[in-house]
Amino acid sequence: MNPWQNAQQTLKQVGEKANIDPSLIETLLKHDRKIEVGLPLIMDNGEKKTFKAYRLQHNNWRGPYKGGLRYHPQVSEDEVKALSAWMTIKNAVIDVPFGGGKGGISVDPKTLSKPELERLTRAFTRELAEHIGPDKDVPAPDVNTNGEIMKWIADEYGDKAVVTGKAIADGGSEGRTEATGYGGVYALMAVLEAKKISSVGLTAAIQGFGNVGTYAAELMIKNGIKVVALSDSRNTIYSAGGFTDIMALVEAKAKTGSLTNAVKELGIDCEVKSVDDVLTVKVDILAPAALEMVVTAENAGLIDAKIILELANGPLTPEADDILADRDIVVIPDVLANSGGVAVSYYEWYQNRHDEKWTKERALEKLEGQMRASVTEVLSIAGESKLTLREAAYVLAMRRIAAAKPVCCEDCNCTNCPDCQNCPDCNCC
Ligand code: NAD
Repeated sequence: MNPWQNAQQTLKQVGEKANIDPSLIETLLKHDRKIEVGLPLIMDNGEKKTFKAYRLQHNNWRGPYKGGLRYHPQVSEDEVKALSAWMTIKNAVIDVPFGGGKGGISVDPKTLSKPELERLTRAFTRELAEHIGPDKDVPAPDVNTNGEIMKWIADEYGDKAVVTGKAIADGGSEGRTEATGYGGVYALMAVLEAKKISSVGLTAAIQGFGNVGTYAAELMIKNGIKVVALSDSRNTIYSAGGFTDIMALVEAKAKTGSLTNAVKELGIDCEVKSVDDVLTVKVDILAPAALEMVVTAENAGLIDAKIILELANGPLTPEADDILADRDIVVIPDVLANSGGVAVSYYEWYQNRHDEKWTKERALEKLEGQMRASVTEVLSIAGESKLTLREAAYVLAMRRIAAAKPVCCEDCNCTNCPDCQNCPDCNCC
């Protein structure tokens, strides 16, 4: 099943199970606009190449389309379709006034020189210019794109509020670096509190030691959780007593190239296990923070955790999700758990538009409040309607999207256009 088929299945299943208005599901199964272009690039050696690029605008009832741009050889129409639909849901779950979009270029950026990457980005921006803008569609970094690429887009377009994820000096927000990892832990803490479970002394395993995994680990430890297993793309490191200084590990990993070298450099006594062992160690909380579809029908039965905090996008396959639900393992879904990043992206957009500069404390305090508010609503829907947290998060998002359906006639507030030909209320059509 490709990602878009996967996304469609989830929307249909949740729609049926939670009795959502079928016309809303129909809307969410379609995209508002597909922009597909071939980007010509003169390489440094004079050779001419063309790269396929996409921007999918899924739904903008709640506000401008919002979502990242990824540069990767596997970027395809179906991948971008799924990712843009998930952004519509995620932005509604965390209640930022954005719709959903996503885009990308099918390219391996590691094969391009920096000037080639900049020319390609600027060419993409020129193609997108009429479709993007602070009030239309606001791209952001994703896989293999970063603040520098966002700066080129803002410069080519001529307005910094057209993108988020910029460096602080270029108009980025304080707190964005920590936002996704910290946001996930704020959500986890809210779930634990609702279940009257103290975080102190719980154990956790985190797959992925990048931006999201490291900040999640840091905040878990501050909340008394013992982070006993960590992994990167090569190995899992395990310490029954828990790792303590995450930022020292980050520095040592940057210096030595891997987590196993980092623990050696710091003289930390721990076991080195294979890369996938992080998923199956016995812990209270498992947080996949690396790749998609790492828990599948094959290994879902081996998971030995009570809570899964989905920090990565789509780390469970739908089959794994069913198996874990049958085993009463609580899954805090990606559209909730990793929405801290887009929440602070909204704060960046807001600050750019209002010429404000927030402190990190202000941004993170607001983020914590926003994550907790969404968790409370998701838990309440899950409890009332006997749904999993993923299903409840989708229901919350769908209710919020439905409530934002544009009104097509100010006189009667009807929302039937463009389909209605004969408005039953005031004959406006
Ligand atoms: P990153 O590139 O900073 O880190 C990814 C980490 O995963 C790296 O340390 C890499 O070594 C590790 N990794 C790769 N393959 C692995 C494997 N097989 N086993 C274990 N680790 C492996 O990326 P990130 O920004 O931390 O993002 C992580 C995930 O979170 C991605 O799925 C991303 O889409 C998702 N996400 C990120 C953000 C954000 O704000 N950064 C927001 C929402 C979702």
